[in-house]
Amino acid sequence: MINIPFNKPYLTGKELFYIEDAVKKGKISGNGYYTQLCQKYFESKYGFNKCLLTTSCTDALEMAAILIDIKEGDEVIMPSYTFVSTANAFVLRGAKIVFADSRLDHPGIDEDQLESLITSKTKAIVPVHYAGVACDMDKIMNLANQYGLYVIEDAAQAIDSFYTGKDGIKKALGSIGHLAAFSFHETKNIISGEGGMLAINDRKFAERAEIIWEKGTNRSAFFRGEVDKYGWVDIGSSFLPSEIIAAFLWAQLENLEDIQQVRIAHWENYHQKLQEWTSDNLIQLPVIPSYATNNGHMFYLICKNLKQRTTIIDNLKSEGILSVFHYISLHRSQFYKGKNFNTVLKQTDIFSDCLLRLPMYYELKVEDVIYKITEK
Ligand SMILES: *Cc1c(COP(=O)(O)O)cnc(C)c1O
Repeated sequence: MINIPFNKPYLTGKELFYIEDAVKKGKISGNGYYTQLCQKYFESKYGFNKCLLTTSCTDALEMAAILIDIKEGDEVIMPSYTFVSTANAFVLRGAKIVFADSRLDHPGIDEDQLESLITSKTKAIVPVHYAGVACDMDKIMNLANQYGLYVIEDAAQAIDSFYTGKDGIKKALGSIGHLAAFSFHETKNIISGEGGMLAINDRKFAERAEIIWEKGTNRSAFFRGEVDKYGWVDIGSSFLPSEIIAAFLWAQLENLEDIQQVRIAHWENYHQKLQEWTSDNLIQLPVIPSYATNNGHMFYLICKNLKQRTTIIDNLKSEGILSVFHYISLHRSQFYKGKNFNTVLKQTDIFSDCLLRLPMYYELKVEDVIYKITEK
């Protein structure tokens, strides 16, 4: 029987070579040669003003919450259909999370609902580019400018994906909001085991971001010779990864184009070959709006109901193929419900019950999955 996992971390072959090199360089704590190499790569390739590698996307989101000075009682708007870290980062600083529903055609935040959720306490909007597909950033940035809000992109899944706004300029996801958080967790396209990055697009945050990153000290400025001693200047934590992680990441970045090409080809193969089967079974294929690109992060189906999804998962499992559902909406989580909020989000619930993710990884034999799905 075939055995197809849902995800399999892909190694380019040079990870151990660069790790060995990092060790030989004699400096394996953070912010060394490989950290700076990776950060510069992202800054020049995607136009981020400044990048800081972090130990996870969760950490990058926590840094963002500190940077925008979230205080007790501030409100932060985000989709309910997301990973817990999107919310937790702000809850840790005392924010009240206001959940928005998903779009009809996509699990991403319903941009048209946002304005009705803004109050005098709203401090930020956190759009999540689900499956690496852009939210409509023009709508979100216009609202943010109008009401004086920050936008923090949860770009955990959105590496190498783009948004083309009304001005016709194609911008990398993560380069549009004031701040953006990426993940290099082993389930993402580009990996380092655990890992992440904060992109700082609003220059006013650049200096303080570095301080928060380095445990609240001005150590980075000290090593650049900008101050003659370093000390405690702000709150902060240990958000930076070691050089060993950055060296691993560098091996991935050298192969980014190849990884992306292969994943997108898998995605397109699924999309094309499942047309007939999905329409026969009243299942929806993913939709990429005209302003967005597909980065091959995830291939999902929207089943007609929970029962159908469970049947497909079970059938595939019996064939040795692991397909999985995704988020349990945060507004229905034990943590949030315990706070007695009566939030009703219809679309979010549909995606919680009906969205099914098919295996997606570099070495996947996508034909095998397609064959097993459609032969029934
Ligand atoms: C993976 C993911 C995260 C968390 O990333 P970590 O690097 O594991 O902390 C946050 N948000 C979204 C939308 C994700 O997909």
